[in-house]
Amino acid sequence: MIAITLPDGTVKQVEPGTTSLDVATSISEGLARNVLAAEVNGDVWDPQRPLTQDASLKLLTWNDDAGKSTMWHSSAHLLAEALEALYPGVKFWVGPPVENGFYYDVDFGEHSFSDKDIPAVEQKMMELAKAKNPYLRRELSKAEAVAYFEEKGDEYKLDLLEGLEDGTITFYTQGAFTDLCRGPHMPHTGFVKAVKITAIAGAYWKGDETKKQLTRVYGITFPKKSELAEYLELVEQAKARDHRKLGKELDLFHFSEKVGQGLPLWLPKGADLRMRLETFLKEAQRKSGYEPVITPHIGNKELYITSGHYAKYGEDSFQPIHTPAEGEEYLLKPMNCPHHCEIFKARPRSYRDLPVRLAEFGTVYRYEQSGELHGLTRVRGFTQDDAHIFCTPDQVKEEVGKVIDLVLYIFKTLDFQNFVAQVSLRDPENPGKYIGSDENWDKAERAIQEVAEEKGLETVVELGEAAFYGPKLDFMVRDAIGRRWQLGTVQIDYNLPERFELEYVGADNGKHRPVMIHRAPFGSMERFVAILIEHCAGKFPLWLTPEQARILPISDRFNEYADKLSKVLENSDIRALVDSRSEKVGKKIREAELDKVPYMLIVGENEAAEGTVSVRKQGEGDLGSERMEAFAERVKREVAAMLSTDLSST
Ligand SMILES: [Zn+2]
Ligand SMILES: [Zn+2]
Repeated sequence: MIAITLPDGTVKQVEPGTTSLDVATSISEGLARNVLAAEVNGDVWDPQRPLTQDASLKLLTWNDDAGKSTMWHSSAHLLAEALEALYPGVKFWVGPPVENGFYYDVDFGEHSFSDKDIPAVEQKMMELAKAKNPYLRRELSKAEAVAYFEEKGDEYKLDLLEGLEDGTITFYTQGAFTDLCRGPHMPHTGFVKAVKITAIAGAYWKGDETKKQLTRVYGITFPKKSELAEYLELVEQAKARDHRKLGKELDLFHFSEKVGQGLPLWLPKGADLRMRLETFLKEAQRKSGYEPVITPHIGNKELYITSGHYAKYGEDSFQPIHTPAEGEEYLLKPMNCPHHCEIFKARPRSYRDLPVRLAEFGTVYRYEQSGELHGLTRVRGFTQDDAHIFCTPDQVKEEVGKVIDLVLYIFKTLDFQNFVAQVSLRDPENPGKYIGSDENWDKAERAIQEVAEEKGLETVVELGEAAFYGPKLDFMVRDAIGRRWQLGTVQIDYNLPERFELEYVGADNGKHRPVMIHRAPFGSMERFVAILIEHCAGKFPLWLTPEQARILPISDRFNEYADKLSKVLENSDIRALVDSRSEKVGKKIREAELDKVPYMLIVGENEAAEGTVSVRKQGEGDLGSERMEAFAERVKREVAAMLSTDLSST
């Protein structure tokens, strides 16, 4: 008998050769019907694969990320089976699961695959799904595998086989389709109850522009029809919230081919919004003991050789800048950290000076392939809300705690209510690959987990996800329509202090190495603003929005009163514009609604005579008339309430 330990600690004694699916059946038939994959000692397996020795077992369903991935990867095989049935002779490269669904890179030969082919493919996939064909795993020798694909004339799979060791090769067959694959897969195709081909794109073989262009077919599948409907609804909502679309409509930013790809131009309204965010964070940081620094946009190549960034990213970065002087080489700054290390080093430091917290809205440049660029979320130049904390190993816990407070303050003020903290720790099976002493690692890993718990955060621990230079904590946020974004990173680093030979004099008068903590609550201003736009669908909170109120005179006769009103609001620090065009007020209101202005102030005969405004609120409608001073108070009160959270009480 072998012992199978379930996540709740239950141990089941079973015969060797029992499958995970058998174990599921022994728990309940209902569970067994939903099992897509099995996590066996941390590896994801086919649920029908026999268990041969003692193991820990987690049964994975659609509710687990790994369960979803297994279904989507299996669906890529289903797509391939359908394509092979419809277009005999097609060849396949790779078909991985992605964040929402899967794709397969396909060589359609002479056929040019297009949107009009999609319905037939979806129909074929559903037909094959209904057959409930099992995914059958078969181990075979490399020679057999090569013979199979030589017979088929498939240069792509033969290329994949070249890189594989004999003895590790597996085929999977479902229905009439056989693929070279490591697996795992779900038990049978019948789990797929709804399918959608979501996009068709070109993709060079191996991502190499000199090689043949294949067709990348994207799809997504679901275990219930209703989930596909929900997903399509979400896609529609996401389209309406797309920051690239709203950014244009709201005049926030612009891209110019002439300036260059991936280099955003912030328009006045966008710059205003961004600066307000920066001021908000700077103020919070000032209260938390950060000191501002400013560093240049380029740095000597030597700096990045010392930091290790050149060895790691040099090839993929912008090429060095050569000055007219002989031998000088500069790089666009890819990271602020090396510069901040040199600031720490600028004078001798004592333990009494620590922690030193250096903050900078530092603009960095990283080369991204043009195909990877995406609005403000993937750009080539961006500004990090960066800071580096230099502290003693004993101060790590308190400092991480303070960073968490800051992040929670930001989330609260900007209405991100739904998030989890992901803690990335060392891989216990591979302790040799990390830099820094075990003692310090233990201390820091414990500190992060303890402090996350003390702050009441919902955490997920990921073993083996730490960087080689230190553990980290990332905030994973869900936006208003449930999409996941990574925001707010705290990263402990034993590496850069070593490379830059940073030191402080301890209480013992000896020299010690500080620990460095990197942190960026927003990440980058560009990406954060993009996420914020999509989260609030362009309806920014009142304190942040570029235009808080728009004054709408009902005819030219009241423009003068409108101007006077705008002065009153300006004196109260309220951002208001006058729409003095000779348009009907109904049209002005509609446009202000479309521009997502929170307050519309309609002024005419009565208002001018009485010193009042007719207040209309975005999304709520008419609020009645109010004295202009009372309106100014209302806005100030609302803004104060939004920003009133005490940093220490989050
Ligand atoms: Zn597969
Ligand atoms: Zn850094």
